[in-house]
Amino acid sequence: MHRVADMAADYLEHVADYPVLPPVRPGEVRAQLPAAPPAEGEPLESLLGDYRRLIEPNVTHWNHPGFLAYFSITGSAPGILGETLAAALNVNHMLWKTGPAPTELEETVTDWLRQMMDLPAGFVGHINDTASISSLLAIGAARHRAFPEARTQGLTGLPPLTVYCSEHAHSSIDKAVITLGLGQTALRKVPADAAFRLDPAALARMVAEDRAAGRQPICVVATEGTTSSTSVDPVPAIADVAAREGLWLHVDAAYAGSAAICPEYRALMPGMERADSLVVNPHKWLFTPVDCSVLFLRDPDALRAAFALTPEYLRTAEQGTATNLMDYGPQMGRRFRSLKLWFVIRAYGVEGLRVRIRAHCALAQMFASWVRAEAGFEVCAPVPFSTVCFRATPPGDGPAQDTFNERLLAAVNAAGPVFLSHTKLNARIVLRVAIGNMRTREEHLATAWRLVRDGAERLRRAV
Ligand code: PLP
Repeated sequence: MHRVADMAADYLEHVADYPVLPPVRPGEVRAQLPAAPPAEGEPLESLLGDYRRLIEPNVTHWNHPGFLAYFSITGSAPGILGETLAAALNVNHMLWKTGPAPTELEETVTDWLRQMMDLPAGFVGHINDTASISSLLAIGAARHRAFPEARTQGLTGLPPLTVYCSEHAHSSIDKAVITLGLGQTALRKVPADAAFRLDPAALARMVAEDRAAGRQPICVVATEGTTSSTSVDPVPAIADVAAREGLWLHVDAAYAGSAAICPEYRALMPGMERADSLVVNPHKWLFTPVDCSVLFLRDPDALRAAFALTPEYLRTAEQGTATNLMDYGPQMGRRFRSLKLWFVIRAYGVEGLRVRIRAHCALAQMFASWVRAEAGFEVCAPVPFSTVCFRATPPGDGPAQDTFNERLLAAVNAAGPVFLSHTKLNARIVLRVAIGNMRTREEHLATAWRLVRDGAERLRRAV
């Protein structure tokens, strides 16, 4: 343990010496791994040696300060300590009895987070591995509320059920309707406005059309902080439609929900308090190592009604008086994830977390200002949080510009110090800089911008 702790600490101290993306091609790691397991135990020396030689250099370094791709996430030191102790305990708190402290810490820490995000008392949280699963559970609860008989009889005999989200919602919502047996066509993609926000009037129209065609709308998913551009859907207007139409309102705040701990960013996300369910991932932007996704429910009984099932061998005397977290979804076993979140919140305090989130948003504004000031580039979406969407605008038509930006991205990422990702907005390729790493400073963004500008210059000269 002591040696491994030193290795982990050394890694974090020197992570910036690595290129963010490892210089490795598909199959190269596997080719160096024995095809069969060892018959006899091997000395720890050789295990740790192989870790250092084969594994550490060949990961994509999410804890690197130049990791600016996807939603950049970071495991902070207190979170790593909590994760380590959770591994040592190896407790599985499917029932209160099998983990009293983990059950009650999960209840306490998720309620702390509820208060930090200024969500109403009465919202009850629990922790899943990912937002994809949290959203799946929420839509499962929505299905159960609309048609409880689906639990016993399945979907046969029911009208076709429909779910709504913006065209910018995360693909996990598609996967949720697929997994729940509704079929991908049950998911209606509502058009968005020029700032990539779901259009509530279009939502109302689509719900009415579906009802007229004999379909049964059950749920709408609003996103606060969409994956591509971090746009915020107009939740109050969506909540009005949901209330009028009797739809379950699920809010996906997997990324931007963490910013709601700052009053000024919470103000950018009005209507959260009207959700039936809301997901936020502390593993995205609250400095908690992956995995940790908190699902809040206004009425946790709705989720329990959909999923709770206690076989004889799991019956305990505390049933009915204590929380059994296995009742909140299809999975029975669960990891002790609240320990790392507890460590993070206590070590930094709410103020310390706010300072870091505000610093990331300030860095994003700074990067966006560099892009705006440069001829031949444009910022492609509003920048409410810590993510900037931008692109080069060389002379030429749309497809030529897309090719240019794809080449630019490949050149920037091949250099080593930074890793950016891309998306499509208004059918055009745009580059994304997402800031969420504890170690990212102005100097790392300056490096990213220099690589982008120089790369574009070289590409222009090559044309
Ligand atoms: N929702 C949003 C808005 C996201 O941006 C993402 C991932 O980036 C997800 C959901 C899925 O998150 P997870 O990997 O926790 O399933």
